Amino acid sequence: MIKAVLLDVDNTLLDFNKSANATIKHALKELGLKYSADVLDVFLRVNDTLWQKIEQKEITREELHRVRWSIIFDELGVIADGHEMERLFLSGLEDYAIPVDGAIDIVKYLSGKYKLYTASNAPYAQQVKRLTLSGIIPYIERILNFEAQGINKPQKQFFSECLKAVSPAKREEVAIIGDSLSADIAGGKSVGITTIWFNRTGEKSVSGLCDYTVKTLSDIKNIL
Ligand SMILES: [Mg+2]
Repeated sequence: MIKAVLLDVDNTLLDFNKSANATIKHALKELGLKYSADVLDVFLRVNDTLWQKIEQKEITREELHRVRWSIIFDELGVIADGHEMERLFLSGLEDYAIPVDGAIDIVKYLSGKYKLYTASNAPYAQQVKRLTLSGIIPYIERILNFEAQGINKPQKQFFSECLKAVSPAKREEVAIIGDSLSADIAGGKSVGITTIWFNRTGEKSVSGLCDYTVKTLSDIKNIL
């Protein structure tokens, strides 16, 4: 029987893509640059690649912040200050917290039955602000984040720390819901908790990777 539920934040509860797009538009305007739709596409691709490298411990989070927008501007053929854009992007992102469809409804529903915890790699202060803005924070028991210790999903240690935090719930009483097979699902599997994959983009899945798959957040009500 499940007692505690770990929730990924970006692209599970909060729509990172929509929030990032709004932030990018605003930041580019501040730099006097034009926005075009391909900026978001290039951002998402470069950002994904860099986060995968962090997950594989090939680069640090600091390196991501140092190079992210310089790479994006290079790819777009735009001459602009990548460091300044990164600064504007990071500070701007805190002001946008667009929930994924059904996110508020599902946290209300789940919080009536289980203790809820967010489990995310995003910077702690940024998460507090975004979860507050979106109205999700009242339903969350605790924000689990170990970036200060350099511990990120999908490291097993991240999930071991989560298990300590949700105690006395035992591993068989804990579930994770997240959109990333590599970070949320593989990580959850590594400590033997129930895994629920939020396949919001209709990705092709390999069987056996997760315990359950949902296409919408409200589908979680059929499982929990
Ligand atoms: Mg996510």
